[in-house]
Amino acid sequence: MIYLDACATTKPYEEVLRSFMTVNEQYYANPNSPHKFASTVQTLIEASEEQFTSHFQTEHAYIYTSGATESNNIALLGVARRKKQFGQTIVASPIEHPSILNPLKQLEKEGFNILWMNVDQYGCVDIDSFSNLMSTDVILVTCMAINNIVGSIQPIKALGEMLQHYPKAHFHVDMTQAVGKMDLNMFELSKVDSFSFSAHKFHGIKGIGGLAIMNDNQLQPIQYGGQQQTTIKSGTINVPAIVSMAKALNESSKLKINRYNEFIQQKDGIHRYIQKNMPKIKLNSDIEHTVPHVINLSFKGVTGEVIVNALNEYDIYVSTTSACHSKHQSLNETLSHMNMSVEEIKGSIRISFDDILSNETLDELLKALREIYKSVEEVMN
Ligand code: PLP
Repeated sequence: MIYLDACATTKPYEEVLRSFMTVNEQYYANPNSPHKFASTVQTLIEASEEQFTSHFQTEHAYIYTSGATESNNIALLGVARRKKQFGQTIVASPIEHPSILNPLKQLEKEGFNILWMNVDQYGCVDIDSFSNLMSTDVILVTCMAINNIVGSIQPIKALGEMLQHYPKAHFHVDMTQAVGKMDLNMFELSKVDSFSFSAHKFHGIKGIGGLAIMNDNQLQPIQYGGQQQTTIKSGTINVPAIVSMAKALNESSKLKINRYNEFIQQKDGIHRYIQKNMPKIKLNSDIEHTVPHVINLSFKGVTGEVIVNALNEYDIYVSTTSACHSKHQSLNETLSHMNMSVEEIKGSIRISFDDILSNETLDELLKALREIYKSVEEVMN
């Protein structure tokens, strides 16, 4: 099997599963209980938190959630509702994941005014449009770091710098497709008020993630309960999952950051091969503006589903636009904002890598793509 759908999820590392099992077996006390066993378990959370702090190199505190969807909801709904008295305007990137776009729709129903940044042909938000939208009425700005459809790198550092002039505006960044996959220095997270991530995107288990937050007074809770993790997040703390997430982050980032240049070379090689041998394919993930572990391409005149199904026959697994969108009929927002034609959007597939491919695997992938291309070339535009 060749699994090339790492943006949807990754396989948990063995040591991650082992640490999850060990904590479940040996450290199962509720960390909020008053006894010594609970205090031991509490130290495991603190050790994990130290690892997050050392990885992200910022002063954020962490709220542990079921994943980035929950983190994004807590951040957007929480900040907007808390800050409503100071302003009603939110500035957002329009190519966000549904776990950002749908809370924004909810906030619109509650009376907030959402202003959308422009996006260029590479899938990057436009800084000038952002600066034109900013005013002292803005209470929240939200923009992802790495887009999940084409892998475009967003100008988080520049947005953070401009937002220094608007101290009332909370800056939230969805870091889901960046964490554990690349060096995060380029984003300057110290200027970001909150950011979200999910462990299963970096070889952790599913159902655990985090919201890093500078000041949780900026949030109104969206759920109520025992307040086990401050007033913002209630429920018995999932210690085994948190510990295993810290393990996953260490292991994944160690491997991926060191091999980032190799990922770039691999992507470049695949692009060149496609340009030479499959000239009717449109490449949607420009090398300069996108991360190397994501390749998005369009078979114009053939649907992405046809290509995904054809690759299934070779035991190769890729995605159409994204797992979250593929069950819905609407055209993908990112590709639409990149001014792609309906045919290009419908014909797009996403290949996403969690490791450098061996020469053998790379050959298998390119051979399969070429054979499929030959079989559909006549109907392509
Ligand atoms: N944000 C981005 C950019 C994503 O790609 C995803 C998942 O694909 C999410 C948020 C949601 O993550 P989860 O499903 O783990 O909550």
